[in-house]
Amino acid sequence: MKASADVVIIGAGVTGAALAYTLAKRGLRDVLVLERRFPGAGATGRCGGGIRQQFTTAPNIRLAMGSVRIYEQLSQELDCDIEYVQGGYLILAETEGELELQRRAVALQNDLGLPSRSLSPGEVRELVPLFDTATIAGATFCPTDGHANPFRVVEGYLRAAQRLGVTLEKFTQVTDLMVRGNRVVEVVTSRGRISPGVVVNAAGAWSKEIAHMADVELPNQPVRHEILITEPVQPITEVMVISLHTGLYFSQTVSGQILGGIGDPEERPGYNLRSSLKFLRRFLRELVRHVPALGQLSVLRQWTGFYDVTPDAQPVLGPTPGLENFIQANGYSGHGFMIAPKVAEILADYIEHGEVSEDLARLSLARFEGEVEGEGFVVG
Ligand SMILES: Cc1cc2nc3c(=O)[nH]c(=O)nc-3n(C[C@H](O)[C@H](O)[C@H](O)COP(=O)(O)OP(=O)(O)OC[C@H]3O[C@@H](n4cnc5c(N)ncnc54)[C@H](O)[C@@H]3O)c2cc1C
Repeated sequence: MKASADVVIIGAGVTGAALAYTLAKRGLRDVLVLERRFPGAGATGRCGGGIRQQFTTAPNIRLAMGSVRIYEQLSQELDCDIEYVQGGYLILAETEGELELQRRAVALQNDLGLPSRSLSPGEVRELVPLFDTATIAGATFCPTDGHANPFRVVEGYLRAAQRLGVTLEKFTQVTDLMVRGNRVVEVVTSRGRISPGVVVNAAGAWSKEIAHMADVELPNQPVRHEILITEPVQPITEVMVISLHTGLYFSQTVSGQILGGIGDPEERPGYNLRSSLKFLRRFLRELVRHVPALGQLSVLRQWTGFYDVTPDAQPVLGPTPGLENFIQANGYSGHGFMIAPKVAEILADYIEHGEVSEDLARLSLARFEGEVEGEGFVVG
């Protein structure tokens, strides 16, 4: 294994993969990606693949809009079909309070240039003909939202990065970070020690543990989320649906399967990866309430993964106060797949030129010292 690298990235999920490729594309090729298992083994390989730009905070909206511009041409750029479907995202509301939150969000989104709009229940039925419109009060829709295959995205990014000279070390666990003064001077792994220029903490729900190794406290918490997939059926909809009311979400994959999950407000933080009957019941009850015809389907498989949740449901990005070469890229709170491509660009701007964009400044670890504005469109 290499004894040194200009950039050492910890974690080969979508964040590490996208950043490795983006740096290499710009000519920064002495990049080493360390992954304790295999690429996609964390949240990325377990996620729903949804790519939406409808959020309530400006940084999340801007990062997602920037990512969609990248996703739109990513299959071609990486020479890998990422199964990108730009079928739009429908966000359901059931109460007057949720409709009001949506109205304010659409106004902000439109101000930032996003073509989202409010829909009546009747208009929802035009998009998803099997939908029972009696179950909702209204919705919002953005036609440029969509979904993609997370395995293909990680594989595509990493293969392209490796073609450009990036090194990927699988089954290599980071076990410690040695700090001297205001720098991380050594990355200790299960397979040897590396002298880094810059160290990027892209370890998903384990980022808190990585930060601890350098005596840095992250406010992130791992929270289990469950998800399932059904047998394939004929095309029903290209739209991805989420509910503000229950945290339900689902889409149909390009192979015809219904893929979806539901947040559980009672879930406590922790590293529990077990699947539950409670999830199966809640998800299927809500799915069939909105789209009764889907009650005919058989479930093939259910699994779990971790959200890496911050107090304001926005990521922690950029330099670490007191440690000039330790960069955070974590805390996505369930939205990392959709914003990782743009995050990679703004982090590469920082690593290459020391440039701190407006969003990097607003999403820094230092923000938790003051008041924070929380994201409102979260699958809780
Ligand atoms: C059920 C579920 C559904 C989701 N749905 C969506 C969705 O529809 N859209 C969306 O945008 N997001 C979704 N998310 C969130 C999304 O999956 C994550 O935000 C995103 O994948 C985070 O990517 P990452 O690369 O930062 O972290 P991860 O993919 O978790 O990668 C971190 C990597 O670091 C490695 N690692 C950890 N510790 C060490 C160590 N000590 N040494 C070396 N390597 C280490 C891990 O093995 C892992 O591979 C979902 C998440 C879950 C769980």
